Amino acid sequence: MKIKGKYFSRGVKVPGNKTRTEDLQIETLEPKSKVYISLSQHIGKLATSIVEAGQEVKCGQLIAQADGFVSANIYSSVSGKVLGIEKKKLHSGIEGDFIVIENDFKYDEVFLDKLDNPEPKDIIARIREAGIVGMGGAGFPTDVKLSPKDPVDTLVINGAECEPYLTCDYRLMVEKSEEVHKGIQYIAKALGIKNIYIGIELNKPQAIEIFDKFDDLTVVMLKKQYPMGSEKHLIYCCTGRVVGTGKLPASAGCVVQNIATAYAIYDAIENGRPLYRRVMTVSGLGVDEPKNLLVRNGMPFSEIREYCKENDNAKMMISGGPMMGMALSDDEYYTAKTSSGLLLLTEKEFNVDNPSPCINCGRCADACPMHLLPMQIDFYTLSGAYEKAEKLGGVMDCISCGSCAYSCPAKRALVQSITLAKQKIAILRGGRK
Ligand code: SF4
Ligand code: SF4
Repeated sequence: MKIKGKYFSRGVKVPGNKTRTEDLQIETLEPKSKVYISLSQHIGKLATSIVEAGQEVKCGQLIAQADGFVSANIYSSVSGKVLGIEKKKLHSGIEGDFIVIENDFKYDEVFLDKLDNPEPKDIIARIREAGIVGMGGAGFPTDVKLSPKDPVDTLVINGAECEPYLTCDYRLMVEKSEEVHKGIQYIAKALGIKNIYIGIELNKPQAIEIFDKFDDLTVVMLKKQYPMGSEKHLIYCCTGRVVGTGKLPASAGCVVQNIATAYAIYDAIENGRPLYRRVMTVSGLGVDEPKNLLVRNGMPFSEIREYCKENDNAKMMISGGPMMGMALSDDEYYTAKTSSGLLLLTEKEFNVDNPSPCINCGRCADACPMHLLPMQIDFYTLSGAYEKAEKLGGVMDCISCGSCAYSCPAKRALVQSITLAKQKIAILRGGRK
């Protein structure tokens, strides 16, 4: 069944920029020599390495163990020899530990046992064992998300893919619809839920028609609006339910999961394959051959840039989408479980103007889908009044969508300012404990 979704107030209209990749089939790109697998690919405690330099490993072998409840296992993406642990830059810019493995190009693979008609507890245990995390960008361990404290009755699948340029989820919906659907069924079974919605923006008519053929879920046709993929906005547009300030989706009886995560769950249960690969979109006018690529965890971005024929006009590199992704320096970076996109943008595609003083036009507030006052938060942050940014500005409700910065004629770095305020407040809260 198909229904028309609601839409939310505010947010922004952003150009989709998906036409160069939306019709391109997923291709596989293998690493050239070494992979660098980060121990920090999820929200929560770092995984702990369980391998040593010189050790031979197989593809799909556990190499780092989840450390605590909110953490995730990490598996080797190739077969070969462990060379050691090196410090490298994470996409966030800070340094982290990476297990370096020399690829022997044999791809000798080990699998977890396949599960046949698993019980809910077996599904959750498999998701944890396979190291599955939210692959839409946040990287929150999926088994924890599927164990909500509040009772839930509705599963909302995020097929919006509202970030410009990115088409990796769309290609999975088109090319692997049966597998994604099975993954959705496993998630619903784990939660004991029959009420399933999949929200898909109207700019993906093929995906809407494909999922409409499954009679155990409702396809919600969503207006193209940014940030439609935000959990709170997606829940409202699909179900009409409102998630209150500072609350989680479960407080409204809902759980949200994304397309790539559903596919990874299918793969872990039916094929016994833990999460060590994913589909990512490589795009922007800074590459001559944009693509949707199936890549192994730990692949150097330089190899992907070369394969997609980066050109001399590329001036900005972003991990993820242009609205919520992270701008990268010229250093080397590596694919992770959350790598949905790699964008090489030209000067035509991103703003190079320096910020100027705020002119109090109010456009950032008009754009904010969380009804915050970004210019005020910016002001409090710049003057070091972080507690005011929290109490008066409501900064902790910010979903970092970037709509404010996108709308600002003065090109103020509002998201960076807001992120700084959030970090300072988190430190202050830690200090109070
Ligand atoms: S303040 Fe936060 S939620 Fe509001 S538009 Fe800016 S980034 Fe988005
Ligand atoms: S949009 Fe920019 S210039 Fe306008 S009020 Fe907000 S911060 Fe100031």
